[in-house]
Amino acid sequence: MTSTEDEALRLDADDPGHRRLFHVPAADGGRYPEAAYLAGNSLGLQPRATRDELLGDLDAWRRLGVEGHLEAERPWLPYHELLTGPAARLVGARPAEVVVMNSLTVNLHLLMVSFYRPAGARTRIVIEDTAFPSDSYAVRSQARFHGLDPDTTVVRLRPRPGEDTLRTADVLDLLATEGDTVALVLLGGVNYLTGELMDIPAITAAGRAAGAVVGWDLAHAAGNVPLHLHDWDVDFAAWCSYKYLNSGPGALSGVFVHERHLGDPALPRFEGWWSTEAATRFEMTPVSRPPATVEAWQVSNPPIFAMGPVRTSLELFDAVGMPALRERSVRLTGYLERLLDEVTPGRPLTVVTPRDPARRGAQLSVRIGTGSAAGLAKRLRHEHGVIADAREPDILRFAPVPLYCSYHDCWRVAEALAATVEVSR
Ligand SMILES: *Cc1c(COP(=O)(O)O)cnc(C)c1O
Repeated sequence: MTSTEDEALRLDADDPGHRRLFHVPAADGGRYPEAAYLAGNSLGLQPRATRDELLGDLDAWRRLGVEGHLEAERPWLPYHELLTGPAARLVGARPAEVVVMNSLTVNLHLLMVSFYRPAGARTRIVIEDTAFPSDSYAVRSQARFHGLDPDTTVVRLRPRPGEDTLRTADVLDLLATEGDTVALVLLGGVNYLTGELMDIPAITAAGRAAGAVVGWDLAHAAGNVPLHLHDWDVDFAAWCSYKYLNSGPGALSGVFVHERHLGDPALPRFEGWWSTEAATRFEMTPVSRPPATVEAWQVSNPPIFAMGPVRTSLELFDAVGMPALRERSVRLTGYLERLLDEVTPGRPLTVVTPRDPARRGAQLSVRIGTGSAAGLAKRLRHEHGVIADAREPDILRFAPVPLYCSYHDCWRVAEALAATVEVSR
C-alpha cells in the first residue's frame, strides 16, 4: 500500500463528518480503541441523542399512564405525524405520500395487496436475482396467494454472463419486449449484495409505460442516496430504518404511495383502526372512513417506543441534508476504492460494485477468490478491529457511511486486507 495513515488523518481533519454524534463500538482486536465500523448497511450505529429520546417517552408512560395519548410532551395519538415531514424530505415525497409503520417486509405485503393485482396475461413480478431473500420470499408467497405458480410468475433479472451487476438497458429491454406480461416490477433501489444503485427514474418510467406497477425496496437506498420518489412517479416504495437510518435493530419501516393512488376507492387495502381518519377514529363506528393519504394503509396503532429513535435519526438527516451527505459519501467511497485498488492487484480480491459513483451508494462489495467470506470477516474483526459484513460464500461488504465513518476507518480496511489476505503467487 502506498497511501499513508497520515494522509487519512489529514483528510479526516479537513472533512470530519458527524462521527461525534454517534456511539462507535470498541474494537475487539488491533491497535486502535474504536472499531472501524463498515457494517452500517447492516445495522447503523446509535446516535448519541437516541437514548434520551427513548427515555423521555418511557417517562411519559410512567408519569401519565393512558393520559399520555394526549398529554405526553410528544402525545402518542398523533406521534407518527412527527416523523412524516422529515421522512418525506428524505425520500423526495409530499407529506401525504409517506408514513412510518410496521417493518419492511410486512409493508411490502400490505403494499402488494394494493399494487400486485395479476389479471389475464399480466401476472408476472420482476425482481433481481440477487434480491434480498425476504423480498424473494414475499413475492413468491404473493404469487401463491393469487393461485399462481411462483416459479413461472417471478422473473429474476440476472447480470450478463461474466458480469456482476445489472445493466439498465437490459432491464429496459425486458420491459419493452415482455412488459405486457408484467404486473409488478419490485426492485431494490440499491442492491444489498453488490451495492449497485439502479436507475430508478428510467426503470420506473419504462415499467409504467409497459402498463406495470413499479415499486421499490429502498432498504439500502434510504439515507444513502438522494431520492425523488414523487417526481420520479414511483408507484410505491418501502424501506427500513435500521441500516443507513440508524434507528436501531428491527426499527420501523417507511412507506411511500404516490399521490395519484391516494383516496382511490378501487384500490384494495387491508384495514384496521388506524386506517380510518384520525378525527373520527374514536367514534368507533363499524365502517371505516379512510383518509386520502397514505395513512389509509396504516393498520394498527404504532409502537411509540420504536418511533422515538426514528424521529431522532430523521432529524439528524434533516439537519445535515442529503445533498451534503451524498457529497461526503462520494468522497469517502471514492477514497476507499482508491485504497482497495492498491491492495487488490495480486490478491484474490475483486471489487464487484460499479465503478461509476453515480451507480452506487456508500458501499463497496469485494468478492474473495479463496476461503470463506465469514472466516475473513472474523479475522478482520479480531485481528484488526474492522467490522464488515460477510455474505457467504464469497462477498465482503464495506459501507463507508458518510455520517460517522472516517477516512482513517477506510485506511484501516485496506491495511487489514493487505495484512490478512496473502498475495497469490
Ligand atoms: C434489510 C432488508 C430487508 C429486511 O426486511 P425486514 O422486514 O426489515 O426484516 C428486506 N429487504 C431488503 C432489500 C433489505 O435490504
